[in-house]
Amino acid sequence: MSSNLANNLVETARQLGDRPAIRLDETTLNYSEFHRAAAAVAGDLHSRGIRSGDRVGIVLPNVPAFPIIFYGILMAGAVAVPINPMLKDREITYYLEDSGMALIYGSRSRGELVAKAALAKKIPALLVDDRGPSDADLTGNPINEPVERSRDDTAVLLYTSGTTGSPKGAELTHENMSTNASTTAETLIRTGPNDVILGCLPLFHVFGLTCGLNAAVKSGALLTLIPKFDAESALRVLIRDEVTVLEGVPTMYSAMLNSPDADSAELSHLRCCIVGGAPMPVEVLKAFERKFECEIYEGYGLSETAPIACFNQPGYPRKAGTIGIPVRGCTLRLVDDDDNEIVGCDEAGEIQIRGENVMKGYWARPAATAEAISDGWFRTGDIATRDSDGYYSIVDRKKDIIIRGGYNVYPREVEEVLYEHPAVAEAAVIGIKHTHLGEQIGAAVSLKRGEQVEPSEIIEFVRARLAAYKYPRQIWFVPSLPKGPTGKILRRQVEPPAVVSQQLT
Ligand code: AMP
Repeated sequence: MSSNLANNLVETARQLGDRPAIRLDETTLNYSEFHRAAAAVAGDLHSRGIRSGDRVGIVLPNVPAFPIIFYGILMAGAVAVPINPMLKDREITYYLEDSGMALIYGSRSRGELVAKAALAKKIPALLVDDRGPSDADLTGNPINEPVERSRDDTAVLLYTSGTTGSPKGAELTHENMSTNASTTAETLIRTGPNDVILGCLPLFHVFGLTCGLNAAVKSGALLTLIPKFDAESALRVLIRDEVTVLEGVPTMYSAMLNSPDADSAELSHLRCCIVGGAPMPVEVLKAFERKFECEIYEGYGLSETAPIACFNQPGYPRKAGTIGIPVRGCTLRLVDDDDNEIVGCDEAGEIQIRGENVMKGYWARPAATAEAISDGWFRTGDIATRDSDGYYSIVDRKKDIIIRGGYNVYPREVEEVLYEHPAVAEAAVIGIKHTHLGEQIGAAVSLKRGEQVEPSEIIEFVRARLAAYKYPRQIWFVPSLPKGPTGKILRRQVEPPAVVSQQLT
């Protein structure tokens, strides 16, 4: 039997065709229309020579075109490669090259960088309207039934750095994606056709993709989209559409809580809130619950685990400040530095995950895959403890990521750009504690002998080359950086500056 994730769309369209599926302001698609539009995209892809296993990029914000194209790619049997639309062309080119992309979708109004990257690599770029491809964009006959795929075939390549190095494509299979969508829909947010999920998490990220889009499709719920999060739009749509399920990263919750619109917002229809992606401050969680009379469940996952692995689940006692207990179909263990399992309570170790949600591997990187997964156990690079009730709490991170307002920033990628500046001798990018964003990007830089430059000039240099959430907001000069015996820069020993900027943008 075919295990194509897109079977969920066909099934829901068959049973609940006239129920609303996707909304953006005045535009609402029902499940039949959504299915028809995706089938047309699949037919178009086939007529352009795209076949099973080919990688197809999507560089779009949260607009109806995203779900239509995502499911269209799957129905065609191809592999979807979602990419953050905030990226600059050199970043898009990297993904395009690394995945060996055959075709890429971008936005008609904001797709110049996509078109530029595609042109440089000689692959077609299809620029579409926010509502999805128009009839004039489409060729071929619709493919109404998804092309057969087996459970171990790759459905999505999601780029992440894993525990080290440059971004790699996590190969998530149809089984990984379908089981995590079902687990989310059935055991966490427990959605049905009368639910409305706020789509404020970006769909190019695994959290929004699985827990928003794929869970909605699985259960016949409505996903109401916000192209790019801001607290006022989120509150407006929460009220307008009587949203029942809210999903966000911690900074979204604190932004809504602190919005001037929060006082008049009446959210009594809000039934379930989930949070993850970064640690949720207990204070924010409690204040939000008090203000809006709702319950927030915190959980944890990664791109490599499709993503949900551990959650405070409805039906179990909720422990604020923890990431809960392992979800259905997923096992967690903690190990020490020698990979010995830790059985005692409250002793910290690295989280390893095994289960139907663990990726097949990193695309075209057998060595990185072997390092990340052994005997089915995936090494997360996150350090946690487990209490006597089996609840996990994240206490540290072994890996090189900074989570700024829910977005992952990989220090090495930013450092590489810093090194391109002619005055920079050495650089180390670190996360600096920030009250609202969780972490802010900072860089300790040592200059080449005789060079003189202002930090603001180097900040501008990086800003011009990387997506806005990645460039350092604070740069400070040091004579040299701390190094280990092999000369490797020890990022963890880099001290933040004496005065820490709380700049928000
Ligand atoms: P991503 O691959 O973008 O989903 O990022 C995954 C990483 O986000 C994890 O490895 C953790 O470091 C972090 N993360 C996810 N959820 C939580 C959470 N609830 N608390 C702390 N860190 C989290």
